[in-house]
Amino acid sequence: METLPKFKVAICGAGVGGLTLAAFISRNPDVEVVIYEAKPQVSAIGEGIAIWKRSWQVLQDMGLDEELAKRNFPPPKEGEVRGPIYRKSDQPEDGYDFHSHLMPYGPLNVPRPKLLDMLQAKLGLNCKLLLSKHVADYSYDDSHSQVLINFSDGTTDSANILVGADGVHSTIRKLLFTALAHQDPPNAESYLNHIPPKWSGTYAYRCNVSADALRARYPSHRSLSNPYIWCGQDNHVVSYPFGSMVHFICYRSVPGGKGGGGVLDGPHVIDVPKEQVLESFKDWEPELRVMLELMNPNPSRWSIFVVDPIPLSVSGRIALLGDSAHAMTPHQGVGGGQAIEDAHLLGRLLAHPKATKENLPNILKIYQGIRLPFAQKTAERSRLNGLIYEFNHPDFPVNSKSSKEEMHTLGEAVGATFGWLAKGGCDEDWKNAEEQLNLLAT
Ligand SMILES: Cc1cc2nc3c(=O)[nH]c(=O)nc-3n(C[C@H](O)[C@H](O)[C@H](O)COP(=O)(O)OP(=O)(O)OC[C@H]3O[C@@H](n4cnc5c(N)ncnc54)[C@H](O)[C@@H]3O)c2cc1C
Repeated sequence: METLPKFKVAICGAGVGGLTLAAFISRNPDVEVVIYEAKPQVSAIGEGIAIWKRSWQVLQDMGLDEELAKRNFPPPKEGEVRGPIYRKSDQPEDGYDFHSHLMPYGPLNVPRPKLLDMLQAKLGLNCKLLLSKHVADYSYDDSHSQVLINFSDGTTDSANILVGADGVHSTIRKLLFTALAHQDPPNAESYLNHIPPKWSGTYAYRCNVSADALRARYPSHRSLSNPYIWCGQDNHVVSYPFGSMVHFICYRSVPGGKGGGGVLDGPHVIDVPKEQVLESFKDWEPELRVMLELMNPNPSRWSIFVVDPIPLSVSGRIALLGDSAHAMTPHQGVGGGQAIEDAHLLGRLLAHPKATKENLPNILKIYQGIRLPFAQKTAERSRLNGLIYEFNHPDFPVNSKSSKEEMHTLGEAVGATFGWLAKGGCDEDWKNAEEQLNLLAT
């Protein structure tokens, strides 16, 4: 940077949200960007992540399609593609497919480490990525329009705004809502209640099987050729072919969908014996069980946490982005996409020529006004999808004795919940944001 930067943005967390934000802001060479990542390297656990059209358009805008091509990775399919097939599976015999809908656009299924690698390749020269930097605390220096940042290693830094892109167990959310509780004692309890993420009542077991091994045991197994959602009371399985493997995630929930909202102690991700998974599906159809029995001996169990709707994601010079603001269940496969959409809008606002050190708090409010309600609505759709897949949705009650007609109605309900992915795009949100920014600047 040859001249002094007009302001400095600090980002806590180099996940998909933090890296996308940094890539968008660093398009403007006059802004300094620094990302602090607690881990010694940029990394993600978990396998593939599905990116839908809205979010992929954002990534294309920053040139990620070129990065895909460089890595010989096929782009997502244009045009209508058949989505996963939904199957009633919680019965020892005669399971059946009950729904499949045309999706407007095949999602890009990309391994998480590859996505992070491509995003890193788009960081500008005005962006620094500092590893092994765990943000522990921050305070304000109002006289200089700055946030002072403290790290666990005893070092400090400062910036004009701090964005918490630090995931569902966010430190920045904790610090922000603790500060709000101190400023507003009558509402302290309500603010403090937003700090811990809540257990959704569901565990996800990430499993896989070699396609050859599955074919040898069950040559026509439907998971070999199509993505499937195997539905049943209180549990479901999502399977999809992935190269030489079939990946599948088994979801197990508190019966009746009544387990959400609590705080869960203990490790969030642990390896468990596969018998724990098999037990939950013991009366399900044989075709599914064959696949489950071939799974890796110690699948990892993820406790699925969510962030209950928070009343604000921005205060002064602090903003929350991605999972730290609105972590959701994975039942629409869009949590990462929502982090990308947050990053797109905030990143473009901050890179805009009209953004100044003085108007940053107002710019953050524009971001909050557009993105927080949208992401929270998405989180609610995702929660409802989980109830549909596990036969616990109050408006669509089905059980093992339900007729095929009732299951058909359930299928139609699933199709409707994905409609929004086909509509609109992030450009409309950006137009709205830019209009508001222009009003600020006059
Ligand atoms: C089973 C499952 C399947 C999913 N499938 C999909 C899917 O198909 N499509 C989709 O879009 N989404 C999916 N999601 C959701 C998606 O994984 C998340 O929404 C996404 O990773 C959120 O990104 P993020 O950048 O906000 O947070 P994260 O990816 O959690 O990144 C946060 C980063 O912050 C760092 N950090 C944390 N605290 C600090 C600190 N104090 N200081 C410095 N650094 C810190 C962390 O080390 C991490 O690198 C799925 C989730 C699950 C659980």
